[in-house]
Amino acid sequence: LPADLGGKKFTIATDTTFAPFEFRDTSSGELVGIDMDILRAIAKDQNFQVDIQSLGFQAALSAVTSGQADGVIAGMSITDERKKIFDFSEPYFESGVQMAISAKDDTIKGYEDLKGKTVVAKSGSEGLAEAQKLSSQYGFTVKALDQSATMYESVKNQSAVAVFDDYPVLAYGIAQGNGLKVVTEKIPGGQYGFAVQKGKNGELLAAFNDGLAKLKSSGEYQKILDQYLNPKA
Ligand code: GLN
Repeated sequence: LPADLGGKKFTIATDTTFAPFEFRDTSSGELVGIDMDILRAIAKDQNFQVDIQSLGFQAALSAVTSGQADGVIAGMSITDERKKIFDFSEPYFESGVQMAISAKDDTIKGYEDLKGKTVVAKSGSEGLAEAQKLSSQYGFTVKALDQSATMYESVKNQSAVAVFDDYPVLAYGIAQGNGLKVVTEKIPGGQYGFAVQKGKNGELLAAFNDGLAKLKSSGEYQKILDQYLNPKA
């Protein structure tokens, strides 16, 4: 039986550029990506409307905690810390953090080569938390930036030697020829969830979960993943 939120409109906050999860299609200017397609497919199935606001990661989380947005989908990792202020959907993607460096850099082979250097990661992200955890042990500095594009640019222009970001995002960028490479293992852990403010928008969260389960069983979920992760030439 299709669930029905009666066409109700929800404001959903997201990151700016976090390909392949959310990014602007260069020809149409539309926000596309795994998160966007999943959200829109669920909204259609559950009969609600979405006003998607591309705010940046930290800003998207703040929009939800301040009540300016009803929910956030932004490749957001489900963590115990965040569960204190957000209610999460069922996980919809398995992810985790990895480090990347310039493809031209042959000096960094592991964390021990970061001593005295600067790395970048996104404000409020798990990448930032992981980099900070390693920084004192390996003696490097961590600089927080708000946007993935600026982070990657910093590594390319060598104002930072490395970036800590989610590995599917790094892999996607590298495959697109962004001039980076990975030299260290993935740091395990990190599943993505859709989130609402704790105790609020329970109806929206339930609709998301119901819609997600349907997308999975119909095969549409896998189709969306394949479109972005295994595109057929
Ligand atoms: N998955 C990471 C986190 O939740 C990064 C998300 C992002 O940069 N959009 O912290």
